[in-house]
Amino acid sequence: MTSFRQRGFFSREAGGQMFARLSPNHWKIEAATGPRRNDRRGRFHFWPDRKAEQEEINLFYEQGLEFVGDWHTHPEDVPRPSRSDITSVENIVRESVHQLPGILMCIVGRRAPPRGLWLSFHAS
Ligand SMILES: [Zn+2]
Repeated sequence: MTSFRQRGFFSREAGGQMFARLSPNHWKIEAATGPRRNDRRGRFHFWPDRKAEQEEINLFYEQGLEFVGDWHTHPEDVPRPSRSDITSVENIVRESVHQLPGILMCIVGRRAPPRGLWLSFHAS
């Protein structure tokens, strides 16, 4: 994910999904997908290809990995979620059909982790 950090002025937002192997006390994130060819990307916006997302969810599920949240980049050093980021993660939590206690949101800023990485948990 950090290879898509928006360091150049014209670089575009990127994003994808995160998949984890779940045990009672741990989520071990084993895969992060994206960006995809059919995503629409701008400097301040990222609109994922929803059909491709569902295909990824099905594919990883067969390998024992559950969708646990989304990631995307921001053109700022230390990333903070925007109002629309919060709205969109709340919609995912509300609409999701699985049994998880919530969803992760990861935002990749321009600085190296950990300062340049936002990670939050949104309970259902
Ligand atoms: Zn954002």
